Amino acid sequence: MKPKVFVTRPLPAPALELLSSACEVRSYPEDAAIPVSQLAEECRAVEGLLVNSARVNEEVLRAAPKLRAISNCGVGYDNIDVEACNRRRIPITNIAGSLEETTADLAFALLLATARRAIEADRYVREGRWDRWQSGLLHGLDVHHKTLGLLGFGGIGQPMARRGRGFSMRVLYHARHRAGGSVERELHAEHADLETLLRESDFLSLHVPLTPETHHLIDSKAFRLMKATAILINTARGPVVDEGALVEALRNGKIAGAGLDVFEGEPRVNPDLSVLDNVVLAPHIGSATGETRLQMALLAVRNLLALLAGERPPHIVNPEIYS
Ligand code: NAP
Repeated sequence: MKPKVFVTRPLPAPALELLSSACEVRSYPEDAAIPVSQLAEECRAVEGLLVNSARVNEEVLRAAPKLRAISNCGVGYDNIDVEACNRRRIPITNIAGSLEETTADLAFALLLATARRAIEADRYVREGRWDRWQSGLLHGLDVHHKTLGLLGFGGIGQPMARRGRGFSMRVLYHARHRAGGSVERELHAEHADLETLLRESDFLSLHVPLTPETHHLIDSKAFRLMKATAILINTARGPVVDEGALVEALRNGKIAGAGLDVFEGEPRVNPDLSVLDNVVLAPHIGSATGETRLQMALLAVRNLLALLAGERPPHIVNPEIYS
């Protein structure tokens, strides 16, 4: 008998086909986060769960006595109660390796758009306000030869370093552990403590996971250390930044601008941010290209199939359950 699995959002056809070849599949039909109570109801008889931006908490796990495999269709897994899974020895996988370059592209796009005021410029032309060439029109900030600061230097931080090198930037990074010397040499990246990173970055791009340690890591104290000409880019998770402190820093010229793909209360965006011209906003589309979304879904399916077959795929995020 095929194992029963539940998928929390519609999958692209090739991924659904692959999953259906080995499993009895039910899917949430909407491209939206399934409510927790409904997910708990759906999980009563399932052995596998393919999660896409849905919350998997104690309530869901308690309702799912047969659950033995969770495949998260994302790199960040702050949506899953890992401790509660560990208590039940349920392995969780993520899809590291499938979306990092694409997310770095978006982070760099936000960096360029904010520095060169691309959205304001587009609006200016569309609104019919462009009547002559002016030397003082829409001055932005140079990107090339500036300092790119990376908070987090993993799957996305490192491709960002490569993009920075392409723009002749000096690259600084901060993470709790130093990357190997060969990585630092290849990417021409220097390790720095957090304070140095904040003080010296012209562009500070966030690439850490959301954990209790990184929650509000960028707060009013951090903004006081940053340059008044600095631009913050956040494609990591909204709560890594204290959004109230960010609004205050942007309003009062403590930093020059921000490019944001993620928000503290998303999809709600703080209205104080939406009115600021020096902010570029995106609706959490870091990995949103057709090619990458398909690869992500296929990897998430392959991970789930491997877990259900009793294998240990390379993307386990809670290896402690095996010890
Ligand atoms: P990753 O490969 O796990 O890298 C995370 C980096 O953060 C590592 O360098 C890690 O190094 C560092 N780090 C972790 N905790 C830290 C701390 N307390 N202080 C300083 N550095 C810390 O993750 P990734 O693939 O680069 O992705 C990063 C995050 O981006 C994900 O967790 C996810 O939330 C987000 N994301 C967003 C999108 C989007 O659509 N916008 C797409 C993909 C991912 P150490 O362990 O040595 O500190």
